[in-house]
Amino acid sequence: MTSVSFLSVEELLEWLRTQDIQTLLVELTERIEADFLRWDSFDKTPRVANHSQFGVIELMPTQDEITYGFKYVNGHPINTKLGKQTVTAFGVLSDVESGYPRFLSEMTYLTALRTAATSAMVAKHLARKDSKHMAMIGAGAQAEFQALAFAAVVGIESFAVTDTDPAAVEKFILNMQPYGFEIVSCLDANSATAGADVITTCTADKRNAIVLEDADVAPGMHINAIGGDCPGKTELELDILNGATVFVEYEPQTRIEGEIQAVDDDFPVTEFHQVLKGQAPGRISDSQITLFDSVGFAIEDFSVLAFIEERVFDTQHVVGLDLVAEPAEAKDLFANIARKGNSNG
Ligand code: NAD
Repeated sequence: MTSVSFLSVEELLEWLRTQDIQTLLVELTERIEADFLRWDSFDKTPRVANHSQFGVIELMPTQDEITYGFKYVNGHPINTKLGKQTVTAFGVLSDVESGYPRFLSEMTYLTALRTAATSAMVAKHLARKDSKHMAMIGAGAQAEFQALAFAAVVGIESFAVTDTDPAAVEKFILNMQPYGFEIVSCLDANSATAGADVITTCTADKRNAIVLEDADVAPGMHINAIGGDCPGKTELELDILNGATVFVEYEPQTRIEGEIQAVDDDFPVTEFHQVLKGQAPGRISDSQITLFDSVGFAIEDFSVLAFIEERVFDTQHVVGLDLVAEPAEAKDLFANIARKGNSNG
């Protein structure tokens, strides 16, 4: 019987508790970077998004020569008011040769890990090398993952955090206490961003919000804008885009979903993989403002799924799922209904 390896939320968490999360984030960053370096070997398409008055449900597929992957993910900012997550996800890896699925995993935690690793990977190359202090606007579900990745990969040592919900900041401070960071709680974005080297915006609101104003941005800053990731859902004042050099994951998708949905289609942006490959400049001066207009791209999900599959393969954390129908005779699919006893019967 072909069995599909399944990693549940509970088993992923059991495994994560045995890991040093910051080391894991460094290794995941390296994995995503390696996959961005082979950008041309992936099939790429903007994600398929189904919108409703409540939020969005999206499918994010890609494949290389050997493996196909997709993620199912939602974005429902109203959910937290009901005690539910804004973002939940699961994903699949399949063999390109047979088309058979081989790995099915929860991806709510994996999305938080890969988003943080991707943000940190980009900042490692684009933020000023002496960056030590990050402002965080939005302290929701993604926040701790972002902080840990920026500390481990970029060398950030202190955080100024603000959120319209003071309880979210308290939760962030409590969760980050064991790591010994210097953390300041701020009343608003203006006070949080004062003196920052890096600004992360990670809020959830399905509208064209302005959580960061141009007046809060100083020369030399790197902006990691990850919350604006859907048509009609942005976070930055328009002037910020005009004053910054903008980097994106996959331009056709970001034009639809990113901060740059607010500007003309010929507004110049650089796909970040080009910087990694030395085909385009990254930061060129200490006074330049660099902006990562992140929306989350399928290759990042592919990378984290493949990374975790390798780590948990052959451990007690995965169970086999009977997900693929395999009658004894390939063409006799009906036999298992007519007679019990064939394979999967
Ligand atoms: P969340 O709902 O858990 O947290 C969002 C936080 O933002 C909340 O604490 C909320 O109180 C706060 N907030 C809302 N408006 C604010 C404002 N004006 N100023 C300050 N704080 C404000 O959501 P999350 O899971 O942390 O995700 C945050 C956003 O990131 C979502 O929009 C999500 O779609 C997006 N996201 C992007 C990627 C990516 O790859 N780019 C990946 C995951 C999530």
